[in-house]
Amino acid sequence: MTQQKPTIGFIGLGIMGKPMARNLMKAGYALTVLNRSRGPVDELAAEGAKAGTTPREVAAASDVVITMLPDSPDVEQVALAEDGIAAGIKDGALWIDMSTIAPATTKKVADQLASQGVVSVDAPVSGGEKGAIDAALSIMVGGSAEAFARAKPIFEALGKNIVHVGELGAGQVTKACNQIVVGVTIEAVAEALALAEASGVDPAKVRAALLGGFAQSKILEVHGQRMIDRTFNPGFKAKLHRKDMNIASNAGDEHGMDLAAAKLVREKFDELIARGDGEKDHSALRTLYPLRDTAPVG
Ligand code: NAP
Repeated sequence: MTQQKPTIGFIGLGIMGKPMARNLMKAGYALTVLNRSRGPVDELAAEGAKAGTTPREVAAASDVVITMLPDSPDVEQVALAEDGIAAGIKDGALWIDMSTIAPATTKKVADQLASQGVVSVDAPVSGGEKGAIDAALSIMVGGSAEAFARAKPIFEALGKNIVHVGELGAGQVTKACNQIVVGVTIEAVAEALALAEASGVDPAKVRAALLGGFAQSKILEVHGQRMIDRTFNPGFKAKLHRKDMNIASNAGDEHGMDLAAAKLVREKFDELIARGDGEKDHSALRTLYPLRDTAPVG
């Protein structure tokens, strides 16, 4: 006997959330969707989703509530404000937060929901907009084994590499680790390609050469190409990566560790944001170094 799929409420339909919600609909889930601006709600409603009005109403209509919001205060507000998820969610429901936020916020919201009979998992993702569109995200999950088992079929409609890392909050710790590696590597690629250009050497050829050796990485491949093409439309907004470097740096401090490279990259993002480029892709770190407009010596 096949079990009926749970109904899902999906809140936060941005660069990541909209294609993720779409993939859940393709997999046969009935969705109620909500976003701050109305555009993406109307778009998904035209494709068969139900348009939600408040987080409270979305939660009341759903067996599972998924949030994909920018930052910790957004999740806290959507979950715990007067018209928030907690005000409407059903006893026995599941909350899946796929945003990248501070583990302390995950725990604060999950504690409130647990007192109402709701189980929670934190499940931040990696793989970018393309991974979201292709249902090929890497999903790092924190929560009990029972909660993970409930959420897994949903994750299978969204991603490929699904890892149950540990208890609640472990997903966010893993994502902080991910963002250290990604952020520091973007800075390294930006410095390398800036040095190539300043030296009159073709950065495209430098990238091609490096891709065959130990410096090879997805960041060199994808973000290196963006830097060469000067395409800094997001992708992943610099202001959101700054938030993540802050989460990682603070977590290091809490354990008495000075994460020097993470802090340096946080400063680089601060510089980018201060000059008004926070909405650009995180690969725009390259623009903090001189950009040559003339074709480099090949
Ligand atoms: P985004 O494009 O800025 O989308 C966030 C969405 O949340 C927007 O559509 C925004 O609505 C909506 N929102 C904000 N506050 C809300 C509220 N109170 N109620 C309802 N909706 C609200 O961000 P994103 O790139 O999708 O990222 C979402 C999360 O995933 C972040 O935590 C980010 O760090 C993480 N992440 C992103 C990537 C990536 O490559 N982009 C990759 C992995 C993880 P508006 O339309 O009004 O702005």
